[in-house]
Amino acid sequence: MNFPVKITEESFAARAARVAEIAAKHADTVDAEGRFPREAADAMKAERLLGIQIPRHLGGEGATTTEIAELCSVLGQACAASAMVFAMHHIKLSSLVEHGADSEWHAGFMRRIAAEQLLIASATTEGGIGGNLRNSICAIEITGDTCRLEKDATVISYGSHADAILITSRSGPEAASSDQVLTAFLKDQYTLERTHVWNTLGMRGTCSDGFLFKGEAPAAQILPKPFAEIAAQSMLASSHLLWSGVWYGIAVDAVCRAQAFVRAAARKSPGAPPPGALRLAEVSNLLQMVKSNVVAGLKAYEDAKADPDKLSSMGFAVAMNNVKIASSETILEIVNHVMLICGIMGYKNGTPFSVGRHLRDAHSAQLMISNDRILGNTSSMLLVHKQDTSLLG
Ligand SMILES: Cc1cc2nc3c(=O)[nH]c(=O)nc-3n(C[C@H](O)[C@H](O)[C@H](O)COP(=O)(O)OP(=O)(O)OC[C@H]3O[C@@H](n4cnc5c(N)ncnc54)[C@H](O)[C@@H]3O)c2cc1C
Repeated sequence: MNFPVKITEESFAARAARVAEIAAKHADTVDAEGRFPREAADAMKAERLLGIQIPRHLGGEGATTTEIAELCSVLGQACAASAMVFAMHHIKLSSLVEHGADSEWHAGFMRRIAAEQLLIASATTEGGIGGNLRNSICAIEITGDTCRLEKDATVISYGSHADAILITSRSGPEAASSDQVLTAFLKDQYTLERTHVWNTLGMRGTCSDGFLFKGEAPAAQILPKPFAEIAAQSMLASSHLLWSGVWYGIAVDAVCRAQAFVRAAARKSPGAPPPGALRLAEVSNLLQMVKSNVVAGLKAYEDAKADPDKLSSMGFAVAMNNVKIASSETILEIVNHVMLICGIMGYKNGTPFSVGRHLRDAHSAQLMISNDRILGNTSSMLLVHKQDTSLLG
């Protein structure tokens, strides 16, 4: 089937800036009401940003992971929840782009995503397994050409608002817990029964409720590669890098507020350095460290993309894990520092220097695949793998 495709030639940056303006306007109410950032999501669709990663021959614009990470940061500076919706959609899309191009059904699905700007959600977390992404309890059942799946999906961000869900499961009722597949189900192919309400400290607008998922679809919708390969070769890297793009954006906006605060104080008392000036210099250093870490991670991923052995190597996995650990921990330090610089004006809501929302949103970063779990994974690899220490990349 062919869909009308309109490719706008305007830069990603200009289109994302318009979305960010809308997202920023609604960020505080989205957070206070814990509601889906509808305005920002509609703007992403209107600016046709949901299909940019898809190759041009399938109706997209062939955006790289680095370009998408930059947009995650731009949106993260406006509204972290909107940015996370955008990031998670593109993380799911990366599995299709990297592993679905040779499958007729998935190529057609990508055409539809680009043409209709469909929003894709993710269901990996499962009751009884938690964030152990590489294991499933639920199993897909295939009868003839049809597959059926029931999953206790305890966290599905914007599950009620998505047009499709990519969901992990065991590859069959007899399969081991780590023998997994990833299946795309379209909205009219599943039901969601809400089991948990997302009333959280931060990232409230992601509306990551828990659901009992029940789906039935043609078996052709199961991605042809084992999930183990999809996770290792694209999903872990794109998750850690695009999430880090969002988190970096939160930190950038917080630091901008601190800088504005210090500049205002400097204007009030010319000649006397404001008390927060040194702390601002310190926080600028921390921000640059996060940026360098994310930029290096993006370069490593773009370089490794053409080499499946490198993508599946321990060295690459350790590097990506380290990007996630460093960015998720350092942004907390940064926002906390900003709070010290801005004082009560940062602690209070509704001032130009408020960072309460930033701090609450930033706290989700360490839990989004628990840092303890990631450190455990890295520590096992470091028992046999020598860390790459070369400055040549
Ligand atoms: C904003 C946000 C959006 C999300 N969106 C989605 C989504 O769309 N889809 C989805 O599927 N999931 C989503 N998640 C879930 C997320 O990615 C994690 O998988 C989930 O938060 C982990 O839940 P948990 O902390 O209960 O579980 P666990 O990972 O089981 O961790 C529980 C605790 O046990 C400890 N622990 C567990 N295993 C180990 C180990 N091996 N070594 C050391 N300590 C360990 C950790 O300290 C952790 O605090 C989202 C989470 C957030 C915060």
